[in-house]
Amino acid sequence: MLRLFVALWPTPALRARLAAWTREHAPEGARPVPPDNLHLTLAFLGNLPEERLGAVHAAGAEVRAAPVSMQLTRIEHWARPRLLCAVPAIGNAACAALMIALRQALITHQLPIESRPFQPHVTLVRKVRKPLTDCDLCPALTWSSDRLKLVVSESTQGGVRYRELAGWPLDARK
Ligand code: ATP
Ligand code: MG
Repeated sequence: MLRLFVALWPTPALRARLAAWTREHAPEGARPVPPDNLHLTLAFLGNLPEERLGAVHAAGAEVRAAPVSMQLTRIEHWARPRLLCAVPAIGNAACAALMIALRQALITHQLPIESRPFQPHVTLVRKVRKPLTDCDLCPALTWSSDRLKLVVSESTQGGVRYRELAGWPLDARK
């Protein structure tokens, strides 16, 4: 079985800024996400047998959506999963359109989709226990992506490892 998800990855410049914020603000005892692992999940497919990989590739290749550019304006502490994450404070049309196009393609290929409402977020720190106050990011950080990634999540001794299986350019005109 493969634990699969489709996500956006930050540009190197934004990754560096997110990593810098994390270094500065991660509470003691918490677990900062390694910079290379920073991402924004659009669809979580869960564990799928390898035979379904062809359907996932076909679905991803069918997505027609424009590149995404949005402002990450807040840091939130999500108490139950014990995360600190960066989030956009207001909905972003391009991100919503991309998520819908991706879900439609997955449904077309009889692939599982997450039933929970979509909450775009970038997890920065895990195992954050203390109640922390949400705060505004000033200045806001611009998240821009022109590529979707299909990723397999593998647990290793050193923590979770994400391995890219495919990438699809975002271009609504195709
Ligand atoms: P770990 O679970 O090892 O702490 P992780 O949560 O990053 O690390 P996965 O659990 O494999 O690794 O998840 C991969 C991606 O899918 C992450 O962005 C995660 O937030 C998301 N994800 C995991 N489970 C779900 C779920 N049930 N619904 C929606 N998204 C999920
Ligand atoms: Mg997880």
